[in-house]
Amino acid sequence: MESQHLTLSTLASMEDYDPNSMPVEQARQLIKQFLAPVTEHESIKVQDAFHRTLASDVMSPLNVPPHDYSSMDGYAVRAADLADSGNKLIKIGTSFAGHGFEGAVGAGECVRIMTGATIPAGCDSVVMQEQTKVDGDQIEFSVTCKRGQNIRLVGEDIQQGAVVLAQGQRINAAEMGLLASLGFAEISVFRKLKIAIFSTGDELVQPGKPLAGGQIYDSNRFTLIGLLTELGAEILDMGNIRDDKNAVRSALQKASSQADVIITSGGVSVGDADYIKELLDELGEVVFWKLAMKPGRPLAYGKVGNCHFFGLPGNPVAVMVTFLQFVRNALWELMGQHPKPVFSFQAICTTPIKKAAGRTEFQRGILTQGEDGVWQVQTTGEQGSGILSSMSNANCFIVLPMEQGNVEKGSVVQIQLF
Ligand code: AMP
Ligand code: MG
Repeated sequence: MESQHLTLSTLASMEDYDPNSMPVEQARQLIKQFLAPVTEHESIKVQDAFHRTLASDVMSPLNVPPHDYSSMDGYAVRAADLADSGNKLIKIGTSFAGHGFEGAVGAGECVRIMTGATIPAGCDSVVMQEQTKVDGDQIEFSVTCKRGQNIRLVGEDIQQGAVVLAQGQRINAAEMGLLASLGFAEISVFRKLKIAIFSTGDELVQPGKPLAGGQIYDSNRFTLIGLLTELGAEILDMGNIRDDKNAVRSALQKASSQADVIITSGGVSVGDADYIKELLDELGEVVFWKLAMKPGRPLAYGKVGNCHFFGLPGNPVAVMVTFLQFVRNALWELMGQHPKPVFSFQAICTTPIKKAAGRTEFQRGILTQGEDGVWQVQTTGEQGSGILSSMSNANCFIVLPMEQGNVEKGSVVQIQLF
């Protein structure tokens, strides 16, 4: 245990802290302790608010619906009167959505009414048109009427003043519509998180250029751009940095002066690890280093000045796995959201899986529903952490817990859907 790196006092209270083989759940809890959400907020248009985070509770300024209205096309009636009139009433007008019937409805009378139209004064119920026979202005009703039927009451969905959305809520499509339905054109959201990314590796070439011997294309940065765009972060793309201590130092310094979070890939496995560790010690602090998981064993978390630092492994699959298992929740938290645990459930594994106990594994799986309705999962095959196509072919992780050994065909396994 390299205790000289554990400069953060909270760590002292953690028993069994082992930076060389940290269990996944412990690493999540540990990161959580360092995350202070952004506080600055801004007002933006609701149509621009997709995947932003609400900076305060949203209270409804009005009742929804704002008035009693009909939920059917039919006739607005007075229920008691209908029986008294031998189920025959005279139509005296029409109430349209947006153009209500202005007059009052008396004994023996009814009003033709459309879905969404206000209920005319005096009426208390709506009979759907399929239950009537029309003869000029004379309407005959074929059923009895229950008082209040087919009317949606003022405030039935949302009462004026009620908290409709809470601070920290991520704004998805439903929230955008909901905000608009309450009359909001603008909304207060937390500012976007600024995230600097760079790859490290002398072997990396940018797509579009020819490859020389021993070189490969830099794919991790593009995966990260996709993952971060989905989260609604502002990305500061710093390209690829040479495997050189001074170059990485300047990149870290530049990134930390502009961003809230730095995410790098590569250069954290054994051998390379040392100089990034030294740099973090010099510029900030390093919290942990090696996780008891596969893929993604080397993962650095620390601070560079006030900036959070996630040093992801170089292998493309490990980048995605560590991002989805650790970084995404941490970023949501920094954005001011309250991330929920990842949704997971059980399925029958139709392929045997070789596994040694001692590490949590995130195998790539393809989940399908069998003819009997039972969910079954198979692996994508070869699970090398460089095989990025396995992430593209998969639709879920098969999560094998630390203590688990080999998985036999037909066993129940835990699934996390992408
Ligand atoms: P490293 O952790 O730097 O030793 O990298 C581990 C493996 O991931 C090596 O095979 C690297 O070539 C590969 N790798 C590192 N960075 C990238 C990247 N940005 N895109 C694709 N592969 C990478
Ligand atoms: Mg490298």
